[in-house]
Amino acid sequence: MDIDKPSTPVDFIRTIINEHMQSGRFGGKVMTRFPPEPNGYLHIGHAKSICLNFGIAAEYGGVCNLRFDDTNPAKEEVEYVESIKEDIRWLGFDWQSREYYASDYFQKLYDYAVLLIKKGKAYVCELTADQIREYRGTLTQPGKESPFRDRSVEESLGLFERMKAGEFPDGSHTLRAKIDMASANLNMRDPVMYRILHAEHHRTGGKWCIYPMYDWAHGQSDSIEGITHSICTLEFEDHRPLYDWYINELGIHHPQQIEFARLELTYTMMSKRKLLELVREGIVSGWDDPRMPTISGLRRRGFTPESIRLFAERIGVAKRDSMVEIGVLEDCIREDLNKQAPRVMAVLSPLKVIIDNYPEGQVEEFEAVNNPEDLSMGSRKVSFSKIVYIEQEDFNENPPKGYFRLFPGSEVRLKGAYFIKHQKIVKNPNTGEITEIHCTYDPETKGGDAKDGRKVKGTIHFVSAAHAHEAEVRLYDHLFNTPTPGNDSDGLDFKQKINPNSLTVLKGCMIEQAVADAVPGSRFQFMRHGYFNVDTVDSRPGRPVFNRIVSLKDTWKKK
Ligand code: ATP
Ligand code: MG
Repeated sequence: MDIDKPSTPVDFIRTIINEHMQSGRFGGKVMTRFPPEPNGYLHIGHAKSICLNFGIAAEYGGVCNLRFDDTNPAKEEVEYVESIKEDIRWLGFDWQSREYYASDYFQKLYDYAVLLIKKGKAYVCELTADQIREYRGTLTQPGKESPFRDRSVEESLGLFERMKAGEFPDGSHTLRAKIDMASANLNMRDPVMYRILHAEHHRTGGKWCIYPMYDWAHGQSDSIEGITHSICTLEFEDHRPLYDWYINELGIHHPQQIEFARLELTYTMMSKRKLLELVREGIVSGWDDPRMPTISGLRRRGFTPESIRLFAERIGVAKRDSMVEIGVLEDCIREDLNKQAPRVMAVLSPLKVIIDNYPEGQVEEFEAVNNPEDLSMGSRKVSFSKIVYIEQEDFNENPPKGYFRLFPGSEVRLKGAYFIKHQKIVKNPNTGEITEIHCTYDPETKGGDAKDGRKVKGTIHFVSAAHAHEAEVRLYDHLFNTPTPGNDSDGLDFKQKINPNSLTVLKGCMIEQAVADAVPGSRFQFMRHGYFNVDTVDSRPGRPVFNRIVSLKDTWKKK
């Protein structure tokens, strides 16, 4: 690896690592970790952290561990562990055999705690949670010392052991670090290290009834694994002095913590707690609802791992919080699919067109290029016959100025087939609704070009009725109707900001035969409509359901 010429531009994190490589601080080693708490599904913010941690390890010839931060027995579930592993693998990263759990370190953490008690740096406290909060003070007022702070080492050791043995009820005792109740940093005011929780843990079962606090477990877990660079989000900056204090008092391996700004995206929300509420209350169909910012939602919607990695690279890392436009993510998937998605024709709101002078029963097949951006993707046959479907919006009885599609008397090109000219409208006599239109075709325009050189302004797509397959198509809009749904200065709950039009279901759409049997998960460009994928959950053989991944242009900008 050549550290002078990294493949990615040098950001502030890589600058720090380069300095360590030069000074030899970690013996030229880089070891990172991704430490999710298994209390929900991963979201696009986690993807940023995954790309960063696994990406940096790979760039410097190091490795990245996967560590589940499972210190809270109440909220964690095996389902989440499995989904997290699936999502990281799907993103294209591999932790090999380095799958760890903070719960694997419970004994070691307990031993470390005993060590601190013996050093006179920790004590068992009998204040209630409310009292601890009260004694803690505020940003402007120093805290008050616990009356149990100066109890003897022996007494604390004995009580801590009895806490572990299950002799006390929940909430009656805690183990606290003895640091400084007057510190300007509230995290240093004798933080709680252990609390009593008579609860089953998904891995350790009933073995423990005292559980380490996140702040006590996190830094030591990094140290135990030999992590060199402990990369985390900005809210942990104020916790760093505490992590440093623990590690220095224990005299163990000292990773370098580096904080970066968490990803915030417009029109969506990143908190697992809030996403869980949407799932529990049935506001979305599940963690993998295609409108969710979760990795499983984006995957089901049709995003590719490449597009998400490109997004992570493009947004980079910064030291200050900022909001990223959701359009940046959408541009990444457009860019990726433009290169690889075959183009097909699909009519989402069909209008029947009868070509009066086309022979009854005749079928022609036209060769259509699958992707003009990549001719190696070949071509396919598109059928043409007397009755075709076009989009309702491609015909207008009273066209506005500048309308180049079909209207009374106009001539347009059916993409790759023939020129057709409008002749007649048929309406439902009761409702006045247009039921079909009649046209004539010009046999001298086969393939879409006129032999006499005449031009038409409009080209529209179509599907031959005799060859069309019916499909359901789901169109999505943002899940929230405001760019910053998480901002509660408007006094509204985030659920009051759900966009009621975030999902539109279209039934009876007409698609080319080429996509009728496409396997779930495959992606296409429906010409003029955007990129779509075959839904992996609701599609049935021969009856595909399509999700619109993204429209062709950034149409949101116009709103
Ligand atoms: P949430 O608030 O959504 O529940 P979290 O930070 O509690 O997120 P963890 O499971 O603890 O979720 O996160 C695992 C890792 O992912 C942490 O290192 C965390 O810093 C990182 N991470 C979480 N959210 C984001 C985000 N929005 N942007 C970047 N990194 C994130
Ligand atoms: Mg967390």
